[in-house]
Amino acid sequence: MDQFADLQTLLKKKRAELDERVHRIKDDARHISDPLEQDSKERAVQQENDEVQDALEKEAQIELQAIDRALARMTSGRYGLCRDCGNPIAIERLRALPYTDRCIDCAR
Ligand SMILES: [Zn+2]
Repeated sequence: MDQFADLQTLLKKKRAELDERVHRIKDDARHISDPLEQDSKERAVQQENDEVQDALEKEAQIELQAIDRALARMTSGRYGLCRDCGNPIAIERLRALPYTDRCIDCAR
C-alpha cells in the first residue's frame, strides 16, 4: 500500500495540465493561429502580449520542475520528507501543496 498513491495521481494530472498549457503558450508565441500584424501599433500590443505569455510559460515551467522533482522523490522513496530537517512533512501540508519538499517549520 502506497500512502502517497492519490497524491501521485494528483501530481501526474497537474503535470499533464501544465504541459498542455506550456504547449499552448508556445503555439501562441509562434503566432500560428494569429500572425503578426502589419500595423505597428497592433504589433506592439502583440509583443506585449508575448511578454506576458513568456512570464506565464516560465511560471508553468517552474511548477513543472517542482512536480517532476516530487515525482522523482516518490520513486526514490524520499517523498514526504523535509529537504532541510529530514522530518516527515505533515500529510495535511502535502495534500495542500503536493510538490513541497519542506516541512512547515522549515518553510517558515
Ligand atoms: Zn523541516
